[in-house]
Amino acid sequence: MNTFNALVVREAEEGNPKTAAASIEQLTDADLPVYEGDESVVVDIDYSSLNYKDGMALTGKGRIIRSFPMVPGIDFAGTVVSSESDRFATGDGVILTGWAVGERYWGGYSERQRVKADWLVKRPDTMTSEQAMGIGTAGLTSMLCVLGLEAGGVQPDDGPVVVTGAAGGVGSVAIALLAKLGYDVTAVTGRPEEHDYLQSLGATAFLSREEMSEDPKPLEGETWAGAVDAVGSTMLAKILAQTKHSGVVTACGLAGGVDLPSTVMPFILRGVRLQGIDSVMAPTADRDAAWARLATDLPSDLLATMSEIVPMSSLPEQGEAIMAGKTRGRVVVDPSA
Ligand code: NDP
Repeated sequence: MNTFNALVVREAEEGNPKTAAASIEQLTDADLPVYEGDESVVVDIDYSSLNYKDGMALTGKGRIIRSFPMVPGIDFAGTVVSSESDRFATGDGVILTGWAVGERYWGGYSERQRVKADWLVKRPDTMTSEQAMGIGTAGLTSMLCVLGLEAGGVQPDDGPVVVTGAAGGVGSVAIALLAKLGYDVTAVTGRPEEHDYLQSLGATAFLSREEMSEDPKPLEGETWAGAVDAVGSTMLAKILAQTKHSGVVTACGLAGGVDLPSTVMPFILRGVRLQGIDSVMAPTADRDAAWARLATDLPSDLLATMSEIVPMSSLPEQGEAIMAGKTRGRVVVDPSA
């Protein structure tokens, strides 16, 4: 590949991120970043994906991009072209998520990228690049939440588990995983028109975003054995107030806000445990374990129904759509289109 396409965000006026704009440029290997003192790997990217954080980067919300010019895209799956590391050989299938790639370091919205070897994991043999990015950062985070529930001893017989932001990326993958593992899953969504979709993934009951956004009492009826929360704010506080004694709430997202208007009552009277989930700096061993579980526990037919492929050229509109809560499931990005 002599030249390849990448989505590059540049500031029109240096030092003023408000003037940043994205366009597709033709790059060569000489344009790619160099990581002095670290082992690098060059990867031909098959697919990237669109995550909430990518939406923030593409729309300029939240100052996700820390340096310009930037190739956004916080994840990708592809094939190794050349490697300075013994751990990766030409032809290996690899996945990258997190590590501030697409924020501080050039990311996945490109047909080729050079990255640090330490940021990569091997793609499971049974998983294609398209499936890996159907899962992507959002789905990896869902798996880390499920592993958090399991580590906290939450079992299917303990009672229902609740998933918020249900029709989004994290929510969709979490529902499919939990249902496959035998949990009774209640989905919280602001889109009643997606009930059939969520039921097809395995949800058995629904609550509206509105009712779960009402101010909670310090303690409410004990309902949930566990939770996967992608929303935060009042909804997370409500779930904490409704969680059963010794239950585990995994908090991974902020789609509804960054605050947490809760009290200590769920913690000191019910022993509720609030488990934070971070995929960005998660240790490589945890990532390998999560990807191995995703390869076995996420039904491939459900993954196919929850993901759509879009061309890289459509990313500006796709970024607006995810920030407006209008995308369903997972959006896979084809950098060659
Ligand atoms: P999506 O946009 O795909 O899904 C978010 C969902 O949240 C929406 O589909 C919608 O679901 C719901 N939602 C949107 N706006 C609101 C609102 N104002 N109030 C309540 N619910 C709302 O994003 P992702 O699934 O990719 O990410 C979800 C969250 O998880 C984000 O905050 C993201 O930053 C975070 N995240 C964290 C990671 C980590 O490592 N901790 C990694 C990946 C993501 P519905 O229409 O069904 O109500």
